[in-house]
Formats: sequence, C-alpha cells, structure tokens
Amino acid sequence: MTSRRTRDRMIQRLEEQGIRNQRVLQIMANTPRHWFLDEALSHRAYEDTALPIGYGQTLSQPYIVARMTELLLDNHAAPRRVLEIGTGSGYQTSILAQLVERVWTVERIRPLQNKAQRRLGRLKLYNVQYKYADGGFGWPEHGPFDGIISTAAPAEIPQDLLSQLAPEGVLIIPVGPDSAQNLVLVKREADGNLRRKVIEPVRFVPLLPGVS
Ligand code: SAH
Repeated sequence: MTSRRTRDRMIQRLEEQGIRNQRVLQIMANTPRHWFLDEALSHRAYEDTALPIGYGQTLSQPYIVARMTELLLDNHAAPRRVLEIGTGSGYQTSILAQLVERVWTVERIRPLQNKAQRRLGRLKLYNVQYKYADGGFGWPEHGPFDGIISTAAPAEIPQDLLSQLAPEGVLIIPVGPDSAQNLVLVKREADGNLRRKVIEPVRFVPLLPGVS
C-alpha cells in the first residue's frame, strides 16, 4: 500500500491533473507521505484525498500540496526563504524544505507541531524552524520572505502576511468562508505594488485566531 508502485501512481495522477513542475513531482515521489499519518490511516496516504490528522485538522490532498508548491516555484525566480502557516502533519513543510534554503513554519496546535518536528527530524530535514503561535501574524523577526504559503483559510488576507512579503515575493493562500474559498496568489512586484490573482476554488480548514 505504500510501495514504489503506489507512489508512482500518485505522481501519474498529479501529472494528469496538470502538475508540470518536475522538481515538485520528483520530490513528492521520493517523500514518504505515509510517515505523516497515524498508523491506522497510513495505508491511504497515496490516495487523492485529504486525510484526518487529529484535532479536527487534515493533511491536504496531494494535488493541492503539489499545486501550491508549483505556484511558488513558478512565480519566483529563486525562492530561498519561505514561511508556512499551518504546519499540521508537516508534509507540506517537508516538500518545501527539500526545495528551498530555509523554511519557517507556524502552528497553533502544540501536539501537531511536536509530531511534525519529529517526522522532519526522521527525514533529516534540519533547515526548518518551528513556532507555536497564531500564524496570522506571520513571523516578523525572520521576514521578509520570498514565499509565504498558508494551509489554513482566513476570511480576509491578514495584513501582516502581506507586509512580510519581500520584493518579488509571493503569497499563496486559500481565502474565504468554508463554503466558498478560493486559492489566491499575491505577488509583490519589483515596484512594491501587490498583484492579486484568483487561482481556483479550494476547501481548507479555517485559519483560527490564537493558539489552542
Ligand atoms: N500543511 C498541513 C495542513 C494542515 S491543516 C499538512 O500538510 O498537513 C491546516 C493547519 O493549520 C492545521 O494544523 C491548523 O491547526 C493550522 N492553523 C489554523 N489556524 C492557524 C493559525 N492561526 N496559526 C497557525 N496555524 C494554524
């Protein structure tokens, strides 16, 4: 269920769904997604679906992880410093950590953060810094960032995330209420102006205030 063949099928499906970035596909083919789930669910890790990780949260479906990562790579010449909001299982974090120089990731549920940190350690991904906090404020001490990816959806884009975007930086974030979210890409142009583009409808857990 977690064999090479099962993983290769996931990659083939991603290509059929329109994912083109070969670096993203290659990293996802070589990252053990089943390590990011509890044992009882690990046999479903390569299915094209979001899966529960406890505390009412979910590991995003492979397509959406691939799509957000591809959007980051395709809209920035060379992203080096990336902020992630919503560590969750750590799967998206692990994909980012293999593609950019350094990742800062923020989570508001402590046990999820601890588990994610252990999993990335097991994968020897040491270029990640973790923070237990409300990610709606970003991580100002380490900004500005070339890329910011949020895996939880606010009703409106938090101003702090926009202000932590470096020149040429790109923010990829689901926005809107449960029933009507869109994935949105915001690019800070060289002249400092922000350009906003709606990518596609999505369904994410909400970005919640404070820590739990
Ligand atoms: N990227 C994750 C997806 C997890 S779901 C993965 O690959 O598994 C989204 C996560 O965002 C949840 O873990 C949730 O606790 C977290 N989250 C929600 N609101 C948040 C906030 N304000 N600050 C930080 N994390 C938040």
